[in-house]
Amino acid sequence: MTKLQREILSVVKDSNDHLTADEVYQKVKKTMPTVALGSVYRNLNQFARDSLIRRVVRPQGPDIYESNMAPHNHLVCVHCLRMKDFEINGLEDYIRDHSSSPIISVNLTVNSICPKCEAALNKKNNKH
Ligand SMILES: [Zn+2]
Ligand SMILES: [Zn+2]
Repeated sequence: MTKLQREILSVVKDSNDHLTADEVYQKVKKTMPTVALGSVYRNLNQFARDSLIRRVVRPQGPDIYESNMAPHNHLVCVHCLRMKDFEINGLEDYIRDHSSSPIISVNLTVNSICPKCEAALNKKNNKH
């Protein structure tokens, strides 16, 4: 593994969050200023294929990368697109029980509003 690859991987692993390729790029750039966004993309996708990190494809916005490899679902804020892990016990079994075709995996994204955006909206509404 190259120094750049180690750096990219540790940014994702250390953050414990859901990062876009651009956010990873901004963080890597702090220690390796000459890094190109394209190589960050390429390496992130390679790590995801190698199951070192997880890539979540989102219809609402850019893909995100995270280190939590355990199967889990997400709450996504419809305003800022921030993602949060969301566990629903028994959900996968429930879906399996109700499906006539075999289930490969369950990746559920629930649209929500995060506390930050909710507070901002409330503030805005109170002004008018
Ligand atoms: Zn939000
Ligand atoms: Zn997650």
